[in-house]
Amino acid sequence: MDFAYEPEDLAFRDELRAWLDENLPEFLEQGEIGSHQGEGLLRTMDRRKAWQRRLNEGKWAAINWPIEWGGREATIMQNVIYAQTMAEYKTPGIYNANGIWQIGPMIIKWGTEAQKEQWLPGILTADEHWCQGFSEPQAGSDLANLRCAAVRDGDEYIVNGSKIWISTAHIAKWGLFLLRTDPGAIEAGRKHEGITAFIVDMEAPGIECRPIREITGDAMFNEVFFTDAPVKAEYRLGEDGQGWQVAMGTLGHERVGSSGASIGMKYELEAMIAAARAHNPEALHDPELRDRIARAYTQIEFTRLLNTRALSKVLKGEKNWPEVPLAKLQWSWLSQYLAELGVDLLGPAGLLEKGGPDAVNSGHFAHNYPWQRFTSIGAGATEVQKNIIADRAIQLPKK
Ligand SMILES: Cc1cc2nc3c(=O)[nH]c(=O)nc-3n(C[C@H](O)[C@H](O)[C@H](O)COP(=O)(O)OP(=O)(O)OC[C@H]3O[C@@H](n4cnc5c(N)ncnc54)[C@H](O)[C@@H]3O)c2cc1C
Repeated sequence: MDFAYEPEDLAFRDELRAWLDENLPEFLEQGEIGSHQGEGLLRTMDRRKAWQRRLNEGKWAAINWPIEWGGREATIMQNVIYAQTMAEYKTPGIYNANGIWQIGPMIIKWGTEAQKEQWLPGILTADEHWCQGFSEPQAGSDLANLRCAAVRDGDEYIVNGSKIWISTAHIAKWGLFLLRTDPGAIEAGRKHEGITAFIVDMEAPGIECRPIREITGDAMFNEVFFTDAPVKAEYRLGEDGQGWQVAMGTLGHERVGSSGASIGMKYELEAMIAAARAHNPEALHDPELRDRIARAYTQIEFTRLLNTRALSKVLKGEKNWPEVPLAKLQWSWLSQYLAELGVDLLGPAGLLEKGGPDAVNSGHFAHNYPWQRFTSIGAGATEVQKNIIADRAIQLPKK
């Protein structure tokens, strides 16, 4: 590891810290374990909206956007400092994370001036919520297999088909969707072609969102059904058939987005030890649990070093390979390891959910245990990452 902060990086960090010291306290008091259904979701979203608006007032909401659109054009190192500092300060989530980190940059790169003017301000000010509609029942890890179809009809496209697992679609005003505009491309063996990106008005006729109940009991993501739903041709992002390129450019954000992960995990470990000390102190004398705590501690440090090595390579102009799939696997495994440890450290109290009089930390550990299962599939499924490492990094022989 041979990088050091430049003076402008230190100035960036100090400015962010000073701003957070001034602005964050009033938002921290309100907590974050929101319910993702009904009024609980709306209350959580109201808090996130207020926090995103405050960030935007300080120009801290969309650090990667161009200055003319309210951003700071941050460097890679500044992105890392931002992720780490936000983790250190335990900042709440924002209202339009997808919009700020993924969809906004797509519109900036591929959109017309009219499209930028129409949509970027609402993303930034949290006036309009956005969702991202890529996955389908037969197109998840193999996304290019998507079949939800858009057929041109004059000034519109008519959309038929369905999407699944679309986070917060039921409260979104707009969504960025990948749709199939060349239905013959899959059968012709060109499945990455014939896909087009569209911005969809989620309140348009012919669109129905059905929330899906999750293992946590929440209902945060949705099936989205299109039945002869009209989408204006002027809402197409990029050219016809360019959808794959439009989408792939933005998924890379996750590479620096994980820089703060080990800091968050360290806090999580400290929080569960403190909770055990208060509610189930015998657990801290159990040799097996003590061994698991020590293992968690060393694995968190290993995660930090893995991310640091990836960053070091990027700063030297090298590819951060194979650290990216390794870091994904490590993050997923360790998140679940910590979630299980949190529940076991609390003993019976670990199962008490939010809302009950004896729930520890507002039921955080009971909620986190099922929630972290998502890390095996989100941002690249475990088996697919292992295949990538086996094929391209280790180059294991194939049958
Ligand atoms: C919390 C959460 C939020 C999400 N939000 C959104 C969203 O807002 N918008 C959106 O579009 N999508 C969203 N998704 C969907 C997500 O992108 C998909 O779940 C993901 O792409 C995996 O697709 P799948 O669910 O169809 O699983 P599949 O791809 O069908 O995988 C199922 C299992 O098969 C394994 N598998 C698949 N292919 C292979 C292979 N070639 N070799 C070996 N094993 C394989 C996988 O590892 C996995 O264990 C979200 C998912 C989660 C968990």
